[in-house]
Amino acid sequence: MLENKKIILAEKDIPTQWYNMQADLPTPLDPYINPRTGKPATKDELCQIFPEPIVNQELSTERWIDIPEEVRDVYKLWRPSPLIRARNLEKFLDTPAKIYFKNEGVSPSGSHKSNSAIAQAYYNMKAGTKRIATETGAGQWGSALAMACKMFGIECVVYMVKVSFQQKPYRKSLMQVYGANVFASPSVQTEAGRKVLEKDPNCNGSLGIAISEAIEDVVTHQNAKYALGSVLNHVALHQTIIGLEAKKQMEIAGEYPDIVIACLGGGSNFSGMAFPFIMDKINGTHKNLRAIAAEPSACPKLSKGVYAYDFGDLSGFTPAIKMYTLSHTFMPSGIHAGGLRYHGASPLVSAIVKAKLAESTVIKQTEAFEAAVTFARCEGILPAPESSHAIRAAINEALIAKEEGKAKTILFNLSGHGHFDLTAYDSYLSGNMQDCDFSQEEVNKALKDLPKIAE
Ligand SMILES: *Cc1c(COP(=O)(O)O)cnc(C)c1O
Repeated sequence: MLENKKIILAEKDIPTQWYNMQADLPTPLDPYINPRTGKPATKDELCQIFPEPIVNQELSTERWIDIPEEVRDVYKLWRPSPLIRARNLEKFLDTPAKIYFKNEGVSPSGSHKSNSAIAQAYYNMKAGTKRIATETGAGQWGSALAMACKMFGIECVVYMVKVSFQQKPYRKSLMQVYGANVFASPSVQTEAGRKVLEKDPNCNGSLGIAISEAIEDVVTHQNAKYALGSVLNHVALHQTIIGLEAKKQMEIAGEYPDIVIACLGGGSNFSGMAFPFIMDKINGTHKNLRAIAAEPSACPKLSKGVYAYDFGDLSGFTPAIKMYTLSHTFMPSGIHAGGLRYHGASPLVSAIVKAKLAESTVIKQTEAFEAAVTFARCEGILPAPESSHAIRAAINEALIAKEEGKAKTILFNLSGHGHFDLTAYDSYLSGNMQDCDFSQEEVNKALKDLPKIAE
């Protein structure tokens, strides 16, 4: 008999509501703090850079939030995404574990980031936004937002860290195909960029500078707003479509996972995959579920960071956020999984980990690529370097299950494909890739820069 490999839902089965983890937290989130007033950031302050419907979602504690018809309609371009049983990988590992993965690499921009980009562009369109400015590092978020803005008739301006602009020209080209205006940051478009260039005309740029440019762009243009691709509550909310679909698909397979796994950069794809399952852990229907966030050894904020108020960006423009952090001034080394090089973890993921409802594991870069190549050879899909951290963690758990002789069910999220990351694969295959672990000494130094917020 031929066994099923993938479980595909119909378009009508796309969830009609997102799940809001804020409704079920053991204790409510600590508020964002405006560092200039020392007081909780007000809704009006947040509305200066985000449209009101997004701010409402950011602060909402309603358990279920409707997904607008127009958003579901664009989602249909690639959703529901397939759930696949990695039978070849199971055979290769000779494990009794069953390994399932959700493939978010099938989105037009190639990663889960489109799930939030589409929703954010829609609410901005509704709120009358004509222009969205954002920053992008490796270019995943920029390409997702560029496509989303085109779908809803909004001008998109992307400040792309200059070194990535030069090293990843095809991500830039993709954004331009979708009609976005892409500037290498620091740029001459903004006062912030010109200042940096005056001092250092050859500056390579950083996410911190790019954020400053994007925010200046927003405050100097009419009907302009800012959009962020991870970390914040509304982004985590939009991503829960991943886990909600996966739950339906697992049910069709007659399964419920013992372990769910996703990689963690700012925390949005982990939130998306894990929160709908953690809901069941909290309400007692699946107490023993384990949720594991796979972090890079170069930037392990959940495993090695402190739980404290910190800024979201290098320059300290954002409100202070209570989260696990290695400090906003910590510079992780240049691993290929650029999407995981963020100093903090989303406040929701941080709260869940603090409450011991999820755990983290640390993966070295070479271990991740070894797993990625094994996965590609077994299942045919070339994973993004970020996603490869989740694959490594899943393989590790499958090998533990083999040792214990237990038929555990493991579900992981394949957050994106690696078609734009072949330079990184070249480096791995030629034996030139190195592990770049973080230095506790540098983190300790950076932790001195945490903002002083009275709690
Ligand atoms: C951006 C990105 C990540 C990390 O971001 P999260 O917000 O933690 O999900 C992971 N995988 C891919 C493919 C990405 O593009």
